[in-house]
Amino acid sequence: MNPRVWVFVEQEEGRAHPVSWELLGKARELAKDLSGGVEALVLGHGVEPLAREAIAYGAERVYLVDDPVLEYYRNETYAHGIIRLCEKYRPEILLLGATTLGRDLAGSIATALETGLTADVTGLEIDPETKNLIMTRPAFGGNIMASILCPDHRPQMSTVRPRTFPLPERDPSREGEIVREELGLSEDEVRVKRVGFIPKEKTVNLEYAEVIVSGGRGLGGPEGFDLLKELAALLGGEVGASRAVVDAGWIDYEHQVGQTGKTVRPRVYLAFGISGAIQHRVGMQNSDFVIAVNTDPEAPIFRIADLGIVGDLYEILPALIEAVRKEKGHGEP
Ligand SMILES: Cc1cc2nc3c(=O)[nH]c(=O)nc-3n(C[C@H](O)[C@H](O)[C@H](O)COP(=O)(O)OP(=O)(O)OC[C@H]3O[C@@H](n4cnc5c(N)ncnc54)[C@H](O)[C@@H]3O)c2cc1C
Repeated sequence: MNPRVWVFVEQEEGRAHPVSWELLGKARELAKDLSGGVEALVLGHGVEPLAREAIAYGAERVYLVDDPVLEYYRNETYAHGIIRLCEKYRPEILLLGATTLGRDLAGSIATALETGLTADVTGLEIDPETKNLIMTRPAFGGNIMASILCPDHRPQMSTVRPRTFPLPERDPSREGEIVREELGLSEDEVRVKRVGFIPKEKTVNLEYAEVIVSGGRGLGGPEGFDLLKELAALLGGEVGASRAVVDAGWIDYEHQVGQTGKTVRPRVYLAFGISGAIQHRVGMQNSDFVIAVNTDPEAPIFRIADLGIVGDLYEILPALIEAVRKEKGHGEP
């Protein structure tokens, strides 16, 4: 039997989290190196369209567990469904998004299957000799990159943050097989019941922003973010931040970029008064174009910047805002 590379398709109310498709793109590469197959797991209720979508993003086969018990996420029911599938089909690799849901689920599955789990990986490849999965992630405060193996247990499991891998091309003409599976669990057997749901208003969408205007300690205080917000609004982007300023209480954690914040991949990343510590860079180094403004010409951020400006951000920012305003006034975006 060919090794199976599995991707869990995360969904909420029938809408897939894009990290699922990013993982399918990576899974195709891994499956190629293993001479194996790319397969997706879709669990939920009324979610068959997602199984077809998974095929469009590269799954050759999709295991579909469609059951009213899976109407909304509960660790118990989703873990039960996935563990059952793993025991039946014995995948080589299982990838999940490092989202709140994915992190919750992955730990339960790995524990039940008595296998290893590498959280928040930044790189995945197949060892050409042993065919083991090499899972890379920052360790020791981001100062080294650790390669983690799980040679003796299967599946080899990883969670991967959104935007770590690029979104593959969607091809609706792709063909694949949908295999329907039973959940094997009735509502009476489930211990956790949902009595209500209070959605948290999500105000920041850093991971999928096309433009991010970020600030660090060089802003000198929380009021510096007013200028960044103004520029971000003009550019249709989001405001990001370094951990130093989040820890200082200048801005909320949901704006933090980096190893212990969000991984981002915008078209343009503007860094104002950010030194560019490795823990910050790992979160934004996949940006298409980086513009950095810093008074220190030796700041590490300049090593990865496409455009570096050595200067005081309080001189450059107002001038930039003015220039963008003028440009917009002329009808240009
Ligand atoms: C386990 C661990 C996890 C971490 N996770 C993260 C993370 O997720 N994200 C993160 O960002 N950090 C993280 N850090 C912290 C990281 O190591 C740095 O301390 C942090 O990124 C520094 O933030 P900063 O660049 O804003 O501040 P600083 O390093 O103090 O840099 C401020 C910069 O502003 C410049 N500057 C000063 N005044 C001006 C001015 N007027 N105009 C222009 N430039 C000016 C200075 O030259 C300097 O380069 C983590 C650390 C550890 C140990």
